[in-house]
Amino acid sequence: MSIKPARTRIAPSPTGHMHLGTARVALYDYLLAKKTGGQFILRIEDTDLKRTVPGAEQEIMDGLRWLGLQYDEGPDVGGPYGPYRQTERREIYQQHAKILVDNGHAYPCFCTPERLDKVRQEQMKNKENPHYDGTCRNLDPDDAAKRIANGEAYTIRFKMPQEGVTVAHDHLRGDITTENKQLNDQVILKTDGLPTYHLAAIVDDHEMQITHVMRGSEWLGTFPLHVNIVRAFGWEEPTWIHLSVFLKPSGKGKMSKREAAQAMKDGYSIFIKDMQDLGFTPEGVLNWSALMGWGVAEDDVMTVEQMIERFTIDSLTPSPAAINFQKLDHFNATHIRLLTTEDLAARLKPYFTREGLAVKDDVLLKIIPLIRERLTTLDDCISFGAFFFKDEVTPNPEELIAKGLDASQSAEIARRAYEILAAQPDLSHERCEPPMRAYVEESGFNTNQVFGILRVAVTGQKVSPPLFESMEIIGREVCLRRIQNAVAILEKL
Ligand code: GLU
Repeated sequence: MSIKPARTRIAPSPTGHMHLGTARVALYDYLLAKKTGGQFILRIEDTDLKRTVPGAEQEIMDGLRWLGLQYDEGPDVGGPYGPYRQTERREIYQQHAKILVDNGHAYPCFCTPERLDKVRQEQMKNKENPHYDGTCRNLDPDDAAKRIANGEAYTIRFKMPQEGVTVAHDHLRGDITTENKQLNDQVILKTDGLPTYHLAAIVDDHEMQITHVMRGSEWLGTFPLHVNIVRAFGWEEPTWIHLSVFLKPSGKGKMSKREAAQAMKDGYSIFIKDMQDLGFTPEGVLNWSALMGWGVAEDDVMTVEQMIERFTIDSLTPSPAAINFQKLDHFNATHIRLLTTEDLAARLKPYFTREGLAVKDDVLLKIIPLIRERLTTLDDCISFGAFFFKDEVTPNPEELIAKGLDASQSAEIARRAYEILAAQPDLSHERCEPPMRAYVEESGFNTNQVFGILRVAVTGQKVSPPLFESMEIIGREVCLRRIQNAVAILEKL
């Protein structure tokens, strides 16, 4: 059986930073499109002008590219169904609102915000759910036309059925049945002539021939409205998929602003740009988010190609997923180990440069095998590798004194190490390690003491990649200078 190519879309509103939720929907959209030989589309839903944040649209496009989820159609790449920014499509929505008014599925509403506010207050006082009271629902169409001609401000409301039930089918949740008397006549076109999400998304999904609508489950509340709008136009419905919600790490409720700020302090974030700055890889982020809502084994390590291979919408799950940053670390570290040396070097370089370090590319390639296994995030390269690119290191004098020894014994070790190493024509690890081990044997000091002092002297820190391999890369001259400097420090103590 041949599979019909899917057309999927990510339709974010540019109202803030791009977050994990958007990335996950985009990933599933992308996987389905690629799997079926279809297209993945970016549509910017910017009709709520008050909430639009400058720069947010660019952040979304950059974020998708960083993740490697390149869209086939979108505002900056064009496509046969454009424009892909909703504020550039207002006539299309106005025409469609008119179709609904003309066929009796929508009506102009002249209620002022003040009046609506009063009605809402009153309903709340009576412990009713706030809803539109239907004042304009049955206005005489000729009267309404006259008021419009007179320049009175109006919105267009969708005329929801008042009797019976609406059955909406979600691919993951089955039929969702709602009593129509609980539904409300929502505004679909605002006084400024721009549509609300409800009309704009439905019209665009149809016009852009979207076959699968994947979105957050926060839209389940207005799902009956959306299917009623599609049906009022007489269109075929897309496959609706409302994805699982993300819960905060404790699993109790959604992540709040405060918790997001706390996560950031711990080196984690739910925002894509931050994740990039914090040293997470697109592969790690995608693998991690893929499994929050997709019923494959929780620890499956997958590249995007492997995900495309395995993806089906039938394996998505509606159950909420608690955000687990330790798993993000796990997937990130795992994918770092899968990168080629050249690729990892290219990704680490900006983190060194960000610290003001002048990176020598040949040195960078050499240190990768030494530090790769130690990296959880890319920016960990600073703690394990900055000393390779510094002219000098500044060891903490206290750390130069080995455990169980005093400053003068430690100075003696440093002096001896200097002599042994200075006697070598080069500092290859094969050449340096045996005489240094022999010295440990004959001196009566232990390995930790001797190598510990040497490590702090040469790298400026107590924890580093393998010592002799590191010394080889740093080179004879710099190593000897650093050891001499350590001797001087110790002799002054
Ligand atoms: N603009 C909506 C949002 O950002 C899109 C929801 C949808 O995908 O239909 O939540």
